[in-house]
Amino acid sequence: MGSHINNVSTTPSPESICLRRGLPVEDGQPLVSGIAQSTTFQRSGVGSDPTHQYSRVSNPSVTALEETLGQLENAPPAVCFGTGLAAETALFLSLLRNGDHVICGRGVYGGTTRLLQQLLNDLGITTTFVDSSDLEAIRQAIRPTTELIFVETPSNPTLDITDITGCAEIAKQAGVKLAVDNTFLTPILQQPLDLGADISIYSTTKFIDGHSVALGGSIVTRDEKLLERIKFIRKCTGAIQSPFNGWLTSNGIKTLPLRIKTQSQSATQIAEWLNNNESIDSVFHPSLATGTDAEIVQRQHLGGHGAVIAFAVSGGFERACSFVEQLKLCTLVEHVGSVETLITHPASMTHADVPRDQRLAVGITDGLLRLSVGLENAEELLADIQQALVATESGIDAEELEAANA
Ligand SMILES: *Cc1c(COP(=O)(O)O)cnc(C)c1O
Repeated sequence: MGSHINNVSTTPSPESICLRRGLPVEDGQPLVSGIAQSTTFQRSGVGSDPTHQYSRVSNPSVTALEETLGQLENAPPAVCFGTGLAAETALFLSLLRNGDHVICGRGVYGGTTRLLQQLLNDLGITTTFVDSSDLEAIRQAIRPTTELIFVETPSNPTLDITDITGCAEIAKQAGVKLAVDNTFLTPILQQPLDLGADISIYSTTKFIDGHSVALGGSIVTRDEKLLERIKFIRKCTGAIQSPFNGWLTSNGIKTLPLRIKTQSQSATQIAEWLNNNESIDSVFHPSLATGTDAEIVQRQHLGGHGAVIAFAVSGGFERACSFVEQLKLCTLVEHVGSVETLITHPASMTHADVPRDQRLAVGITDGLLRLSVGLENAEELLADIQQALVATESGIDAEELEAANA
């Protein structure tokens, strides 16, 4: 027995971290912990100071998830929020005040852009949006009032790669914080803090929960002072995650390493197939990166490039819409990160209210589709995509095709 125990590394693997957040071993305890569905916690006497007192400040079902998320990045427990955008709001409020300046990647999540442009701007916090895959553009955007660089990599929805280590060097030189939205790759495939970032931030709503059942957000940092400030903001603004969503997410995260790796592999396979298909104008997935991007991806990604692909079908807006309607295994929604394969048509959905020239400037063409590859059989997904391409070839619609085949 001793010999194999000696082989067990002292640093637990991500797989074990995700699974071993149980109760202390006691006879008769349930294997899965209960939900601490309570707003408040009893005290044994007037002077007592229990760990949990009121669920706006902390709750055991949220704390359990925070410990797992912190451990995955070799950091103190995370701070969890009701949504990803609540986490971002808390981050911004903890670092920024009237007169401060932010540099933000232009390929970040749309809600992040809206928060900075339409809300924080009115509080006197200004943002410069730059192409964060261009380090020189970031360097040039630094002002004396800059306090934060915020990037997302791969970007949304065109999956551009930002060099986190390069950004971290610029941030350090300028004495500003670097935050990375790591929602798409999760700590399993990318470790922003190890690459030099100060903050990893997540919408746990996506891959971390993974089952489209619980909203949530989290912030991970090794900076203890910042961590205290973020907890204070959460208490002030009442943005903590609910016990039920914390509990659901703790259950979802158990299979995160398995899910994200399998989904990434399928995504790589599908991206390659699409890349060799003449009905497809362009394909975006980090597995297809070349040149400097390929080097960054090699250094930055840990055994997978994520489950999100973007591709443009030839034939533009009309074809993209009918293509999506022909799919049987991919569900049309505004969402990524679930076990089911999901598809979005940004031009008519997420970016419908962005003027066309602005959309085109950031690579969101009329025919662009974003696919979040799920856990279905990859061959079946490919077959589904293929039949939808055939069905929508040169204006032939499905009924005509069926009639022709009959
Ligand atoms: C969804 C998402 C968010 C916002 O998260 P919510 O939980 O929906 O508030 C932030 N960043 C990225 C990359 C996302 O995909």
